[in-house]
Amino acid sequence: MVPAELNSPGYEIPPEARNQVVITTLDRIYNWGRSASVWPMMFGLACCAIEMICTAASRFDLARFGMEIMRPSPRQSDLMIVSGTVTKKMIPIIVRLYNQMPEPKYVLAMGACASGGGPFKEGYNVVSGVDKFIPVDVYVPGCPPTPQALLYGLMKIQEKIRGESIKSARWYQKGPDAAETPIPLLGPDLIDPRKIEFIKSVQAKRNQEA
Ligand code: SF4
Repeated sequence: MVPAELNSPGYEIPPEARNQVVITTLDRIYNWGRSASVWPMMFGLACCAIEMICTAASRFDLARFGMEIMRPSPRQSDLMIVSGTVTKKMIPIIVRLYNQMPEPKYVLAMGACASGGGPFKEGYNVVSGVDKFIPVDVYVPGCPPTPQALLYGLMKIQEKIRGESIKSARWYQKGPDAAETPIPLLGPDLIDPRKIEFIKSVQAKRNQEA
């Protein structure tokens, strides 16, 4: 059975051939294939991960979306579900995993902690949102979000994929690849390497004033 959404409007297909013949665009069939076979990376950070695990189990059944194959390697994953509290100790590893995922790749921030720090926002050891370091495509609110909420977020990822075009996709453009996100440095506190020049300038100013 040919999925109805693949048939482009404007082309008349005889009723007797509608289950065998489809007339569509390259973008539609390419995005349909990609959106129906998203492979999330298998990792979880805190309590939200339990809800993510429930979502993959039989009651909610991620297999309906072609997403049941959670990969244990970033090299084989195209969706990172950040499910739980992002600590300063963990963010360097998360960024490294993100950099190791091949394009096209997507990030879903699951829950209040991953989206903005949640109940630990001002905590000494917590990053107030994973989007401070990696780009997030979809945010799912809640503490924790229910499996239904996560499924809705996953459908939003599918919607985003279906709206993309081969012509403008960033991973098919000529030129150098997008720069990797620099891995944060964990010392006495977390340092974002993109802000080192700024930190140095503030320090120099303070030294002059002293
Ligand atoms: S958002 Fe709530 S449930 Fe999810 S990791 Fe944070 S504290 Fe736990």
